[in-house]
Amino acid sequence: MSNNLTESVDFLFIGMGAANCLLLIKMYENDLLQNKKLAIIEPNSKIVNDRNFCFWSNEEEVLKLNLGPLISSKWQNIKVADREKQTISPVYYYHIKGIDLYNKVKEILKEQTVSYYTEKFDGTAIQKSNSFLISLTNLKIDAVKVFDSRPPEYARAEKNQSHLLQSFYGWELKANDYNFDTSTMVMMDFNIPQNNYCQFMYILPFTNNTALFEVTRFGKAIITKEESEKLLTEYLANFGFSYQILDEEKGVIPMSSLKITNINYGENWIRTGANANMVKPTTGYAFHNMAIDANNHVESMLNKKTFTRKIQRSRFKFYDGLLLKILEETPQHGKSIFQNLFNNVSINNVLPFLSEKSSLQKELFIFSKLPILIFLRVAFKDILHRITKVNPSYFAFIITIVSILAYTLGLKEILWSFLGIGFLSVGLSHGAIDYLTDQTINNRKQFIKFIASYLLKGAFLGLIWIVLPDLALVVFIAFSAWHFGQADFKEWKYKQGFNSFTWGLIVLITILIYHHDETIVILGHIKGLQIHHVFSDLSANQLLIGKLSITLFSVLFAAYHKSKLMLLTVCYLLLSTMLPLIASFGIYFVMQHSVHGWRHLKKDLKTNSFTLWKKALPFSLGGALIISIFMLVNNKDYMGVFFILLSCISMPHIFSMHNFYSRFSKSETDI
Ligand SMILES: Cc1cc2nc3c(=O)[nH]c(=O)nc-3n(C[C@H](O)[C@H](O)[C@H](O)COP(=O)(O)OP(=O)(O)OC[C@H]3O[C@@H](n4cnc5c(N)ncnc54)[C@H](O)[C@@H]3O)c2cc1C
Repeated sequence: MSNNLTESVDFLFIGMGAANCLLLIKMYENDLLQNKKLAIIEPNSKIVNDRNFCFWSNEEEVLKLNLGPLISSKWQNIKVADREKQTISPVYYYHIKGIDLYNKVKEILKEQTVSYYTEKFDGTAIQKSNSFLISLTNLKIDAVKVFDSRPPEYARAEKNQSHLLQSFYGWELKANDYNFDTSTMVMMDFNIPQNNYCQFMYILPFTNNTALFEVTRFGKAIITKEESEKLLTEYLANFGFSYQILDEEKGVIPMSSLKITNINYGENWIRTGANANMVKPTTGYAFHNMAIDANNHVESMLNKKTFTRKIQRSRFKFYDGLLLKILEETPQHGKSIFQNLFNNVSINNVLPFLSEKSSLQKELFIFSKLPILIFLRVAFKDILHRITKVNPSYFAFIITIVSILAYTLGLKEILWSFLGIGFLSVGLSHGAIDYLTDQTINNRKQFIKFIASYLLKGAFLGLIWIVLPDLALVVFIAFSAWHFGQADFKEWKYKQGFNSFTWGLIVLITILIYHHDETIVILGHIKGLQIHHVFSDLSANQLLIGKLSITLFSVLFAAYHKSKLMLLTVCYLLLSTMLPLIASFGIYFVMQHSVHGWRHLKKDLKTNSFTLWKKALPFSLGGALIISIFMLVNNKDYMGVFFILLSCISMPHIFSMHNFYSRFSKSETDI
């Protein structure tokens, strides 16, 4: 020990469970512990066989990993679900006793310079230039390399993620007058009551008359000792032998698709075992992964390379996520899924699939044997969730490209149907729920007052359109710019004000100036309007200068804000100049502006899209009806009428959303 109560070591092992035991053994076998000082923080004395580790592998790999001396049993037949036993040759299902692993490590440690600490490490460390400083109650440890196997901590669940528990309880027993088939282990026998969970039995016959019978549950609640004992007693009664219980095993393994959040202190702070995502979420198996991981790690140490792990292939992550969601939402389907899997697919195809070593073709075959509708339902929800996570600006960009392609190929209907659906689902609806954000509505009278004042605001702008159309146009454009800027800036977490207003203006001017001819035609349909002549009198050169100026300004504006999303918006607005004005505006309005607004409303009102949409429906229909009636009455100048009506309907919405955002900003700091 050096500098008063600080111990300096080469390697610090936090936790000495399976992962760190496997790693330490490998390091020892490769002489990486020679002349090294070690420290171990492990609160558990590890003197009992607290877990049995099973895994499937072949003899060659077991030899390579040098696990042979630890193996206490192996089986080459597996009886699974309702099938006859099947051989898994050349693979074996191996069994290692936890205590044998711990004892082997204790033997190795006798030859090392090692300090033991039995208190729990709280997870805080100071990263120094070449080491980490860790504080325990009475001393500090300065360690060059840390192997951290504390249990994982998880992030909050996203909608498409799940966190379940695999809990189990088993008896190692001695059977009287009974001969077990020692070549065959029983996996996932579902012939036990499900009790609204997904639960099954395992049998590991160690000798002719001793075996481990274990009941396992996949579910949110842990199986209790009483529940397990009842299930075990009933199950064992089918075998017709009497028995003595020699030992018990119990445990809980997280089955999780959540992100692990344990702090990472850099490349010399290595998380191991469950903490390093080694547990396959849908099976709970981790031992084989950890043994391979230890091997890889030692190889990189020998080669003096930084240790990096392969991340789980995304399609297996996706499958795991789906199965976990099914087990979480409808655990009763677990039995039929696993029985279908094991009854219809050979175990020799299932095991590589569970080890994530199957081909896509084999996986499709496997899925074809499963109750596919159950998977499709959760897959659909999962994909929908992922889509809602895509930033609306990316989405708008993609839609712009697809629309340009559709338009050039003469498939205009695709574009209009898409925009129509978008307009009816979020475009119109995000304005039709203004009554939900108004905090003055507590009763019917206040509701009627709100509707009346809403209509009056719209009517007032209508009046200005009749009396002073030029002023109405300027007011409408200014208010719209304010409103568009407000929603985008809120989403992008920028301060509201002059800059958000400028951004709204950039969007509108870009759309209008690049669709100069169409803009003039529409404005030409508005009676009494004079201001648009300024626009129509522009020479080609003036127009070009205008277009270049707004483009340059918008790019500089995005650069000033260091905003990729702003730049992306500018890009798709420019690309959408290849489309008609209404499509260009529609893509921005529906895919970006309305989706941003919708997200904020959903968050503030703490509800889902469908509920919000239902609440909006009567008012969306009302808005559509008003527009249709006016357009039927005045069908000559329908373009102008449509524009004016849209502005009149939008005006009260802009006020409502301004009030909403002012309140939302105060209550909401993290959108
Ligand atoms: C009962 C049981 C049976 C299992 N059977 C199998 C199987 O058959 N096959 C398979 O592939 N997988 C199996 N698993 C899953 C997995 O292999 C094990 O959970 C395995 O032990 C994980 O290794 P680990 O090192 O990450 O965690 P552990 O083995 O649990 O080791 C973590 C160690 O850290 C210590 N610790 C905890 N907190 C702190 C702290 N704050 N400070 C310091 N130390 C701390 C603990 O005491 C423990 O010793 C089983 C799990 C259980 C629970």
